[in-house]
Amino acid sequence: MAGGGPAVAVVGAGIIGASIAWHLTRAGARVRIIEAAAPGGVATPNSFSWINSNFSFARDYFELRHHSMGEWRRLAGALPHLPLSLSGSLYLPAAGLDLEEFVARNSAWGYRIDLIGASEIEQLEPNLTLKADMAAHAHDEGAAEAEDVARLLTQAAVEEGAELLQGMPAETLSCSGGRIDGVRVGGELVAADEVVVAAGVATPDLLREAGYVPPISSPPGMLVHTKPIAPVLNGLVLADGLHMRQKASGELLAGCDFQGGTGLDDPEETANNLMCELGEAIGTNETLTFERYSVGHRPMPEDGVPIVGRPPGLSGLYVAVMHSGVTLCPAVGAFATREILEGDRDPLLGPFGPERFDGAAGA
Ligand SMILES: Cc1cc2nc3c(=O)[nH]c(=O)nc-3n(C[C@H](O)[C@H](O)[C@H](O)COP(=O)(O)OP(=O)(O)OC[C@H]3O[C@@H](n4cnc5c(N)ncnc54)[C@H](O)[C@@H]3O)c2cc1C
Repeated sequence: MAGGGPAVAVVGAGIIGASIAWHLTRAGARVRIIEAAAPGGVATPNSFSWINSNFSFARDYFELRHHSMGEWRRLAGALPHLPLSLSGSLYLPAAGLDLEEFVARNSAWGYRIDLIGASEIEQLEPNLTLKADMAAHAHDEGAAEAEDVARLLTQAAVEEGAELLQGMPAETLSCSGGRIDGVRVGGELVAADEVVVAAGVATPDLLREAGYVPPISSPPGMLVHTKPIAPVLNGLVLADGLHMRQKASGELLAGCDFQGGTGLDDPEETANNLMCELGEAIGTNETLTFERYSVGHRPMPEDGVPIVGRPPGLSGLYVAVMHSGVTLCPAVGAFATREILEGDRDPLLGPFGPERFDGAAGA
């Protein structure tokens, strides 16, 4: 490990652990990344990976997300091969979505979003066969290929001096005199001045013995993936019960549900239905061929917003677990690093600390 800063063990090399590890390494910490499997994550490879800040978020959560959207450009500047596309999103009419109110509320908060008509929709997405007279266009939204980003950040951290222990699950946290002083891996103590737990849905299990168990659920979500085709979509499209985007590889990705749980009783049937809807939504001369479906579990704190910071009464420990980790990756990496190394908590992280849960539930 290079550098003369504090020794930090980061547990988990999904998009959140990888981002924190990379930011910490660049800021001079001596970082060890402890990953049970391989860098890339568990929730991360199954994510739709949409970068956004909208819907009916409370103002403080909107602001954190909005800030992080801008931070993706900083990350892309530092890592030029980052698989990121900020080409905007199109919201078509959908049940329960009042487009005019949605645009008015988000623009009043400084979001670059407009109401557009049929001809502008056609201009933005000429291959869309779903027709609408009105849509919302969010200019700065986009997507990142999250698993590749996690790998790239881990690799960049290693190139800058971090050490990667992969295929090595952290077994327990080590506690001495009321302070977390390391992690046990393969029966050995990996000593650290600070341990960061970014283990996604496995976070509560790892923290149990330390006496802080954040309430996390793991709602599932399914996506279908097609074989690659020539470019047909320019940005993300959110329609009624269907969201879709196209990767740079040409693969189309589609899902039907942002809340979790829908259609998983019979995943094959849900995947078939999604493929049919996708076929009806997009005009292409090529045949859309089903490649696979994926099911992932979102690391979802009980109140839906991130848990980032030091659990009460436990020094030497920092926790970062959240849904929307793709949107939040750059901001959380930078903010966690500043808080760990300088003790300075960014006001945007203010309401999202672990102290809002007593941690005893489920212990
Ligand atoms: C279907 C679906 C759609 C989503 N869509 C979006 C979206 O559009 N936009 C968005 O922003 N977010 C989205 N998300 C959420 C986002 O993917 C997650 O918030 C993010 O991937 C979480 O990253 P993570 O690094 O915290 O967790 P993970 O990716 O789960 O990584 C945790 C890592 O910790 C490791 N680990 C666990 N236990 C241990 C241990 N004991 N020792 C060592 N290592 C350990 C695991 O092996 C894993 O590599 C979606 C998620 C799903 C499932």
